[in-house]
Amino acid sequence: MQVKVMLEENEMPRQWYNLAADLKTPGLPPLGPDGNPISPDMLAPVFPMNLIEQEVSQERWIDIPEEVLQLLYRWRPSPLYRAHALEKALGTPARIYYKYEGVSPAGSHKPNTAIPQAWYNKQFGIKKLTTETGAGQWGSALAFAGALIGLEVKVYMVRISFDQKPFRKMMMQTWGATCIPSPSPYTQAGRDILARMPDTPGSLGIAISEAIEEAVSDPTGQTRYALGSVLNHVMLHQTIIGLETKKQLAKINEKKVDVIIGCAGGGSNFAGLAFPFVNDKINGANIDIIPVEPSSCPTMTKAPFVYDFGDTAKMTPLMPMHSLGHGYIPPPIHAGGLRYHGIAPLVSHAINEGLLNPLAIQQLECYEAAVKFARTEGIIVAPETSHAVAATIREALKAKEEGKEKVILFNLSGHGLMDLVGYEKFFAGELQNYEMPLEVIQESLKELDGYPKPPAMTNA
Ligand SMILES: *Cc1c(COP(=O)(O)O)cnc(C)c1O
Repeated sequence: MQVKVMLEENEMPRQWYNLAADLKTPGLPPLGPDGNPISPDMLAPVFPMNLIEQEVSQERWIDIPEEVLQLLYRWRPSPLYRAHALEKALGTPARIYYKYEGVSPAGSHKPNTAIPQAWYNKQFGIKKLTTETGAGQWGSALAFAGALIGLEVKVYMVRISFDQKPFRKMMMQTWGATCIPSPSPYTQAGRDILARMPDTPGSLGIAISEAIEEAVSDPTGQTRYALGSVLNHVMLHQTIIGLETKKQLAKINEKKVDVIIGCAGGGSNFAGLAFPFVNDKINGANIDIIPVEPSSCPTMTKAPFVYDFGDTAKMTPLMPMHSLGHGYIPPPIHAGGLRYHGIAPLVSHAINEGLLNPLAIQQLECYEAAVKFARTEGIIVAPETSHAVAATIREALKAKEEGKEKVILFNLSGHGLMDLVGYEKFFAGELQNYEMPLEVIQESLKELDGYPKPPAMTNA
């Protein structure tokens, strides 16, 4: 009975897959503050031109540079597992597979894009990267990449996480990055907030503002900003997950996947596994492709397709995406991660074209599923990943009811060994379910009154 499928390094994909090349309708451009499409050179102070080219590329396949492959070999190709023990515990006729991205040194899929982003910046002559981090996963992934590639990395970490989650900060420090709590006294954005609210716990929006401000105001022009999800080039880099998975399934002669599942915050780990299969679906394959989000932050299942800012402080261009409004804050009882108010424009676009079937799940069901998974398969998953596990269990039980021998595949985006406090709260009975009322969402969306509206899209 085969438990895991491995690939040799020389079997790893040599190109990333760009879904933008295969969507029926063209993607909408991001807009500047004046409502006009922004041109690539307007992004030049923030990102290096080689990554901007990837961001706007319509090429279907983009070569992975040899030096990037060499660095990805540190942990890739990642294993594909068959969840025999979970199948048995559920008594399902379904075959369940998961791609395990927790084997990276930072513990999640995020280094799949941190490495190429750092590499392209280095190629462009950049010396230093700035970024923000919430729970610390992205900050530690970029710190790791900076160490391997030789770039200085500065991470603005949301104050409350900085105080409550010291381990991620220690990881960043170990990899040689500087991690400071945001808001900080080092930027104008930080000083303004501190003057008004000295005791603020901080927010991702404030941290993004600080990181961008530091990048664009470096007088030497050798600092840029890096983002860990949402953008097209991030989705692109993550497709190595799905491309490897296809080769692994072929190796064990598993010809057809029926259901594909990934958790979705900004959308990158989901897109990474799913987009190569979305291509099959566009070409006629019958696959149910399910991005899963928390009910307390229901971007894909309840939010309209709009133009909105990527951050609370409105520093980014307006992006075409499903959004709850850039000021949306999930309730504090939510411990499950995946708190972003929007979702990647490419994922939004695929939803609009009827290629995906998004799903929202409550956090108690997610933690129950994660505990069942830990006690059968052994891996303690990240709170974000628990959403994918819960959806997988639902699908496996459905297959049992229907007596169908389905093939279910999900992305295990990261382990939860740095996030055990969420589990502790779950066991202590301190977590609750929460369905975000429609009125709260409507109130948050009022902020977007007067913004440009995307043209109505045909919803298949
Ligand atoms: C950051 C993170 C996510 C959410 O981000 P996406 O861009 O939606 O993938 C999910 N799982 C893990 C383990 C993460 O670190």
